Amino acid sequence: MNWKHALKGMTPYKPGRSIEEVIRLYGLKEVVKLASNENPYGCSPAVKEFIETDAIQYEIYPDGYASALRSKLAAKHDVSEDTLLFGNGSDEIIMVISRALLGKGTNTIMATTTFPQYAHNAKIEGAEIRQIPLRDGQHDLEGFVRAIDDETSVIWVCNPNNPTGNLLPSDTLQAFLERVPEHILVVLDEAYFEYITADAHTDSVTWLEKFPNIIILRTFSKAYGLASFRVGYAIAQPEIIANLNKVRNPFNNNSIGLAVAEKALADQAFIHQCRQVNHEQRDRFKQYATEKKLHMFDSETNFVLLAVPGDADLAAEQLLQQGFIIRSGNALGTPGYVRVTIGTEQQNSDFFAALDTLLVVEGSAK
Ligand code: PMP
Repeated sequence: MNWKHALKGMTPYKPGRSIEEVIRLYGLKEVVKLASNENPYGCSPAVKEFIETDAIQYEIYPDGYASALRSKLAAKHDVSEDTLLFGNGSDEIIMVISRALLGKGTNTIMATTTFPQYAHNAKIEGAEIRQIPLRDGQHDLEGFVRAIDDETSVIWVCNPNNPTGNLLPSDTLQAFLERVPEHILVVLDEAYFEYITADAHTDSVTWLEKFPNIIILRTFSKAYGLASFRVGYAIAQPEIIANLNKVRNPFNNNSIGLAVAEKALADQAFIHQCRQVNHEQRDRFKQYATEKKLHMFDSETNFVLLAVPGDADLAAEQLLQQGFIIRSGNALGTPGYVRVTIGTEQQNSDFFAALDTLLVVEGSAK
């Protein structure tokens, strides 16, 4: 078959091991998954209540316009309904943006290391990928500006960044946006927005008028605790949304996903509480890293990138044997580190105890 040339040498996304698989492999009683930045507190109780009502007509196609969720989100963000686009997770929106704007003869700028789906999709579309190394875990926006030329089509800013967890200060980001030509789409991927607790952080939705070439990505997969339902959304000027709508699949979100996202959105007290406890638990990670002299990036998310002694693959494997599924930085482009989702108080205490055993064996910390 005439596969696209770009597919040669590419590999499909490799998910981490599932809880069931690890239980089976290692004969463990309990396994904690701290690998994919899901919400350890689950989701709003309103979601479970709704699902039990069985209120969805399964034989009917979903609302391809996501009307109900759209109107609630428009109200929440104080934007008009035509500024919103829905995706089967923000993953799908990344694909739609790439399909609509990238191709041979274009280039796209992103950090390295950052969320891998930007490069993955750009590669499939045949665009030139310009990867700008992080500086101290931060996007090097000066480097981004230097990489821009007439063929640049899309710039990806992951904020806070995955896997470092770093947040770009709002004034730095704003100064950058002022320097980007208006014909370039700047994607602000804010999958972890709800976890930010930094003072003086500006909600980028307030920049939509000033910078008409931005698109903001948010998701129900993280703080809202609905990763399995695959609901993400984008906010941008109507003209951008109208063009991206030409590319997306007609019924890309299913009825249950749309309905439960609406329930979860209404329960902002749950989000507030999750942000709060996550913040407290993130401080425990900071304290642990300082005590053990392990380097950890400043995180404004529900995960941390933490240095481990020795090889990160080996550390991840040893932690797996103790019942913790985490991500080795080797696979994420950050060798020497592991990415750990911040769990509940008990899960984190257990995780620290497990990591302690590795530090004792190694005898020294980085
Ligand atoms: N962007 C970032 C930065 C992420 O970390 C993730 C999930 N790992 C996504 C987008 C995709 O999330 P989803 O498709 O579940 O909305």
